[in-house]
Order: sequence, then C-alpha cells, then structure tokens
Amino acid sequence: MSTHGDGGKGSNPRPFSVPLGQFNDNFERIFGKKPKQCFSCHGTGEIICFQKDGKTEAYRDECPSCNGKGQI
Ligand SMILES: [Zn+2]
Repeated sequence: MSTHGDGGKGSNPRPFSVPLGQFNDNFERIFGKKPKQCFSCHGTGEIICFQKDGKTEAYRDECPSCNGKGQI
C-alpha cells in the first residue's frame, strides 16, 4: 500500500451557491430543451409485449409512445 503521489490538495472547494436543480433549469434554458427519455420503453424504443394466451413467448415491439425513438 502506498499513499504517495497525492500531494498538492490544498485548495478549498468552491461553495456552490446554485442548487443542482436550478443549475439544470438554467442549462435547459441556455442550451434548449433536452429530449425526454420515453417512460414507456425507458429510452430503448422497444416494449415487451405478452401474448394473450400466455403460451408463446413475449416479443419485442416498437414503442407506440415514441415510435421506436426512445425519446419524446
Ligand atoms: Zn418509447
């Protein structure tokens, strides 16, 4: 075990005056709205469908909420 090579840590951390939520809000305001991840498919663009009879396996299908894009 060696702890050497970690010198020079003397600077004080800068106090954050802006809360993280407000920072993100400013970020969106400056750079425009980020595309939201589709909550139906969790951004994958695919949803799992289950057969009605339950005999055959579940299959993947294009997410109707985002048309398979994964973002809204
Ligand atoms: Zn989707």
